Amino acid sequence: MPVEPISWQRLLATSVTDPQQLLSRLNLDPSLLAGARAASADFPLRVPEPYLSRIRPGDPADPLLRQVLPLGEELTEHPDFVMDPLGEQDTNARPGIIHKYHGRLLLVVSSGCAVNCRYCFRRHFPYEDNNLSTAEWQQALDYIRQDPTISEVIYSGGDPLAASDKRIAWLTREIAAISHVRRLRVHTRLPVVIPQRVTTELIEALCGTRLPVTMVLHCNHANEIDRPLGEAVRLLRQAGMQLLNQSVLLRGVNDDIDSLVNLSETLGDNGILPYYLHVLDHVKGAQHFHVDDRRAIELAREMLARLPGFLVPRLVRETAGETSKTPLLS
Ligand code: SF4
Repeated sequence: MPVEPISWQRLLATSVTDPQQLLSRLNLDPSLLAGARAASADFPLRVPEPYLSRIRPGDPADPLLRQVLPLGEELTEHPDFVMDPLGEQDTNARPGIIHKYHGRLLLVVSSGCAVNCRYCFRRHFPYEDNNLSTAEWQQALDYIRQDPTISEVIYSGGDPLAASDKRIAWLTREIAAISHVRRLRVHTRLPVVIPQRVTTELIEALCGTRLPVTMVLHCNHANEIDRPLGEAVRLLRQAGMQLLNQSVLLRGVNDDIDSLVNLSETLGDNGILPYYLHVLDHVKGAQHFHVDDRRAIELAREMLARLPGFLVPRLVRETAGETSKTPLLS
């Protein structure tokens, strides 16, 4: 009898959330436990099996592990690292809407994520205020209907693909019915950490309307791109989606030229274009990932020298109150 594939919902539900389980599963030094417990009290550990299986056991410096393992260093206070580094709580125009830039806005489609990335700039975001009731969803849609300058809606979160296919299909139909909206964009890390999330139903939910769809994935290291993710991306592209990637420059993860070049080459092999390389947002708890601007610019220049232009992401910073992201290299 054929074995039923494990559903993405099951993979999500069985994610590792206990630091002790993570350390013993990956054969890591138990002395990491106290720090991991303390840091995860504030921002819990969460890592699903398909991502866990790409981490090298016994290696505390593994670039995927570093993104998910809570460390005692997160608790060190630093005056430049704050709760809401991008001032998003001031741009939360209505529950569920973040309207920062002209012509486009973010919809907080789901407050959950499949993985908790330790450097996340929304690790302190008040998601509890952005879990929408049916009436609030209608208000959010009214906000889009009433602003003819909005030509692009961006599904964000949390991770928007943590929402059900039914919810995504409904929302996409409602947005497609607003004539001034021309494009849909989806910012997600879920297919990277659980490639099984890319189902036929999801593709129909996103691609079943008049709106062209761009999916912006979030990979920081080539080791995140395995065969199941490559297959998921192939299905998305076959359905007509444009695939881009944004990364964050992270100390100890990808702050060396070989890692960055290899990431871009592997994205290119899979038909994903590198879009942005963000410098770290100064969120409280992520200070140990900081790479200074001089080094970031040096790495961006080296990428230009080693890669074709279309595989070089733009090195950018997001600053609260600015009208767009700011390139560090002109
Ligand atoms: S998946 Fe994205 S939103 Fe969720 S924790 Fe990671 S970086 Fe943050």
